[in-house]
Amino acid sequence: MLEVQGLSKSFYGTPAVTDVSFRVESGEILGFLGPNGAGKTTTMRMITGFLAPTAGRVTLADVDVARKPLLAKRALGYLPETLALYPEMRVREYVAFRAQLCGVPGRDVKARVDEALGKCFVDDVASKPIGNLSKGYRQRVGLAGALVHKPKVLVLDEPTVGLDPQQIVKVRALIRDLRKDHTILLSTHILPEVELVCDRILIIDKGRIVASGTPETLRHQMSQTPSVTVALKGEVPEADLVFRQLPGVAAASRIGAGGETRVTLDGVPGADLRESIFKESVTRGWTLLELSPREASLEDVFVRLVSRDAAAEPGLEPGVDPDAPTPAAGTGVPS
Ligand code: ADP
Ligand code: MG
Repeated sequence: MLEVQGLSKSFYGTPAVTDVSFRVESGEILGFLGPNGAGKTTTMRMITGFLAPTAGRVTLADVDVARKPLLAKRALGYLPETLALYPEMRVREYVAFRAQLCGVPGRDVKARVDEALGKCFVDDVASKPIGNLSKGYRQRVGLAGALVHKPKVLVLDEPTVGLDPQQIVKVRALIRDLRKDHTILLSTHILPEVELVCDRILIIDKGRIVASGTPETLRHQMSQTPSVTVALKGEVPEADLVFRQLPGVAAASRIGAGGETRVTLDGVPGADLRESIFKESVTRGWTLLELSPREASLEDVFVRLVSRDAAAEPGLEPGVDPDAPTPAAGTGVPS
């Protein structure tokens, strides 16, 4: 449905995106995950034809975006990172305007606008000026405008940034729901968001794709370094030191609590630590209460792949935007 081949972009000789290739299949939500400055927006602007690539090619519903930009844009709905909405325009007028821009025939505009407003849960504010809406509402109006012409592909650049937690939940649920009618590429720097919303993930760092797969396959790929949790009965202060001597163990850390000693062990790639841990425990007369492999979390994966400085806050949700008008600020519009 959407194919990106060898896409690169440099600004004044500095590469921002380097040799990015991927496909998004019909009916799929692909998450584009990366820290700020990774190149997500630049890639999306090239996909949507707003920025000419230095190299590479984008094909959207079998149309080459560079060769037939107008035709490609009919098949595309784009929610940019900073949404340019006209504050004095009323919601319905704005969405109708977007429909006309995208070539919806005049006789269909009203029905399409009604459908888009309903789909994005903004029909109750259809006659309000956009400037009076809360940020969560404005974001959904932006979405309604992006999908009013029923594009096959939706490109959403950080659609939940700046929303408060309740609004985030609503917008994420809406995006999941849109999957039945659209193929979706969504960017985010928020790790839990891709797990909650996306079917497949691309991780981008410093302009390059560093990993791709479903959340499960990514975790599996990354858990090649085996990790095991051991629980022993009673206080065994030397347990970590003993286990660290076993072949294949790279690291061991111990906590003792509630009459138990828990040790977390990381092995070298390919090692199966369980047998030697079991034998060592028996030899020493320790009672083994638990011996279980520990799967790497997606957060482990992200932190390991992405440059440490940039990934300092990988799982943080954005807080409430203090500038966003809210019901409490007197707009009279619920979020
Ligand atoms: P992301 O959306 O992942 O946060 P961007 O695509 O916005 O990342 O930026 C990627 C890199 O490209 C950054 O280093 C950014 O400073 C640079 N960049 C983006 N747009 C421009 C531009 N118009 N001119 C110069 N540099 C840019
Ligand atoms: Mg961006």
